[in-house]
Amino acid sequence: LASRELKKQDTIVPVGRVRIGGNRVVVIAGPCAVESREQIMEAAQAVREGGAVLLRGGAFKPRTSPYSFQGLGEEGLKLLKEAGEKYDLPIVTEIVGTDYADLMNDYVDVFQIGARNMQNFELLKRVGSLGKPVILKRGLSATIEEWLMAAEYLMAHGSDNVILCERGIRTFETYTRNTLDLSAIPVVKKLSHLPVLVDPSHGTGLREKVHPMALAAVAAGADGLMVEVHPHPEQALSDGPQSLLPDQFEKLMRDLQALSPVI
Ligand code: PEP
Ligand code: MN
Repeated sequence: LASRELKKQDTIVPVGRVRIGGNRVVVIAGPCAVESREQIMEAAQAVREGGAVLLRGGAFKPRTSPYSFQGLGEEGLKLLKEAGEKYDLPIVTEIVGTDYADLMNDYVDVFQIGARNMQNFELLKRVGSLGKPVILKRGLSATIEEWLMAAEYLMAHGSDNVILCERGIRTFETYTRNTLDLSAIPVVKKLSHLPVLVDPSHGTGLREKVHPMALAAVAAGADGLMVEVHPHPEQALSDGPQSLLPDQFEKLMRDLQALSPVI
């Protein structure tokens, strides 16, 4: 179902007034995690002013350490929705387990399947059956074939609106947190009709590398970007070192506009 052989024209995923895919670049931005009302409101205002069209923020965080901040849970969903409504931005948030599906369905505009859950097939089946748009991140060690098969799971269980997201893979290189595989963009674009986003924040793990890799992703044909932005990254409870400051985000958006039409 995800194959270009079956469907020649590009899939365009509608999310409210936003269209993901087609000839305009979409930018999804927001903090790694929802931390407080003040933080998510400030972040939402900043990304809206910069030109993002969807707001991201995790309420259930899949952290490497069980002792790290795990997210605000349902309270985080409420705050994210409140911020999205205030700034007229549909919301994107990660689902980490099938148990959360009913709860989250009441809040979320776009589900995110995180890299660590890319091959959680029971989760893919459940989220696919909800019928809402889904952003499917590439697994840390997943081949493109495996990634597309995970998309196939979502589609086989009822989701027509799958959006792929390259977020870096695990290699021997340590200067960046992950190695952002930009060559995946033209490869996937040829194999599949689904839209492809790039997440240069997790892809590099370093704030100063986000700008160049975001521009490179769009130059390579990405349909959009997912970027972490935090009003005070030094105080962030997760992924502070890779989060852009609001003025850095604004500068990125200006440079992107010069490269390609951004909605
Ligand atoms: C995130 O988007 O905050 C996240 C945890 O992403 P990934 O699953 O790509 O690591
Ligand atoms: Mn993050």
